[in-house]
Amino acid sequence: MKRLALLGATGSIGTQTLDLVSRFPDELCVTALSAGRSVDLLVQQCKQFHPELVSVARAEDAARVREAVGDPKLRIVHGAEGLLEVATYDADLLVGALVGSAGLAPVVAALRLGRDVALANKEVLVTGGPLVLAEARRAGAKLLPLDSEHVAIAQCLAGHPQSAVKKIWLTASGGPFRRADRATMAAAGPEQALKHPNWDMGAKITIDSATLMNKGFEVIEARWLFDLPLERIGVLVHPESIIHSFVEYCDGSWLAQLGIPDMRIPIAYTLGMPERFPLPDLPPLDLLALGALHFEAPDLERFPALRLAFEALAAGGTAPAALNAANEIAVAAFLAREIPFTAIAETAEEILAALPVLPGLSLEEIVETDERARAHARRRIEERRH
Ligand code: MG
Repeated sequence: MKRLALLGATGSIGTQTLDLVSRFPDELCVTALSAGRSVDLLVQQCKQFHPELVSVARAEDAARVREAVGDPKLRIVHGAEGLLEVATYDADLLVGALVGSAGLAPVVAALRLGRDVALANKEVLVTGGPLVLAEARRAGAKLLPLDSEHVAIAQCLAGHPQSAVKKIWLTASGGPFRRADRATMAAAGPEQALKHPNWDMGAKITIDSATLMNKGFEVIEARWLFDLPLERIGVLVHPESIIHSFVEYCDGSWLAQLGIPDMRIPIAYTLGMPERFPLPDLPPLDLLALGALHFEAPDLERFPALRLAFEALAAGGTAPAALNAANEIAVAAFLAREIPFTAIAETAEEILAALPVLPGLSLEEIVETDERARAHARRRIEERRH
């Protein structure tokens, strides 16, 4: 039995993780859950999965959960402290499925205890890559991917020497604006940008997929997870989202992992390791019906966010943390209809250029950069509106 603590239980990855827990009750259980403000869903999850500890964003919601669940043994905490409690609670594996850099401190706290972490929350490695790796190494904790591309790469790497890897290739669907021109993108509202062609995901990551910032963040994540320099990480646009990534070897061999775009497949791989969980009710991959798979080079002119992620990674230190924080603020402003779609990358670029790059090896330095970049981005968005 694998005992899971789960940060972000009511989000897209959280609910799909719990779907797997309900399918495999002899193999998986949960000891601790965190949610933000989705109190009703959390209450339902408490009744179904019986965690010992839950955390919510606000104190008043903690009282609501207590009353609705009605279990005197359930411990209920809240706020940033609550996330730390869930992250460090007794479990075999922490599933990190928060959205944004808010996940960094809890994941670092878990790693410091030697807890293995399965990471869907890519902003953790984007903002704190070197720090997170150092903490994991020091405590002997494993960092496992929980993103379709990185799970694909991990499977293609399994059993092969790292020295034989020439390059890894992340695939990208291209998002809803793959064929759109700049003017169409500038005029697009949240309803167009939220229409992802293949994947059903949360709002923030769906917008990041439309700008390709998500792919840029995945490149940064891959740099740390697989210990490869930027030049050995490539991106291929693959609109069908069937090949989830490739590894190219020194002998000219390429290995790929294929599957329908359903996040439960990569989540099941990481939670099930070294076994594989059967998922017989998912629709089968029908290559005959697909007929062909296509590939294109990403267009860095129309999708400057991808270029910005490469530049931030090359700049090193706190540059990716600044880029991420500016992007979080800009995506929220776009969803609130305060700025146009194309202003997300423009804001991120301005903030990336404006902030000094610090070494970024301590949590304090990363948090400081994160806060400065957020304040700066908010100011720029305000100025833009007036
Ligand atoms: Mg992905």
